[in-house]
This record gives sequence, C-alpha cells and structure tokens, in this order.
Amino acid sequence: MHEFSLARNIIEIVTETALKNKLRTIGELVLEIGTLSGVEVTALDMALESLQPGSVLEGATIIRDIVEASARCLECQKEFIPDDFYCACPHCGSFSHEVLQGKELRIKSISGE
Ligand SMILES: [Zn+2]
Repeated sequence: MHEFSLARNIIEIVTETALKNKLRTIGELVLEIGTLSGVEVTALDMALESLQPGSVLEGATIIRDIVEASARCLECQKEFIPDDFYCACPHCGSFSHEVLQGKELRIKSISGE
C-alpha cells in the first residue's frame, strides 16, 4: 500500500524535525494534500493512525488541508480546475496545460513543545 510508505515517510520527517527543534511532544501536524496528488486520504489516515502509537505523533492532532487543483492552459492562458492530468482545457479544448497546484503532499506545519 502506497499510503503506508507515505505515512512512514511523514513520521520520519516529523521525528527529525522534532529532534532538531527539541520538541518532546507534537501537538499538531498539518498536512497539505492536493487533489491531484494521487493520495487516498482515507487510506493515509488509516496508515497514520496505525503508526501513531509509540511514535513521535502519539496523541497529536493531524489536520489535512486539501488543496484543490488548478491548471493554466498553455494555448489560451486561462486557468481552470483539472479533473486529472490528461483533461482538456474547457475553454479551447487544448491538452497542453501546466498544473499550478494540487500535486502536493507536504507537511505544512508542525507544532509541539
Ligand atoms: Zn485553453
């Protein structure tokens, strides 16, 4: 399961950050998850929950900040909300666009003491 290794990765990063900042407990972790990131949020939740006990994230609140994807058409330069990576521009039908946001899975903030 892809989400399981993602969760393990997240915990590793949080553990390193906690060590660097001399945090003993993590109160809150905010994750930013784009709608085009390919991450199954429920699966990630389950994976994180199962890894939380005994980890640096034990007892922490995990907040998911869902980022809605947006893209800009390279033909007509208009912005639109893509359903996936291969969708056509709703304004001119072109398939060439760049994704502006929505691909991310990252740690937005970590707080603790
Ligand atoms: Zn277009």
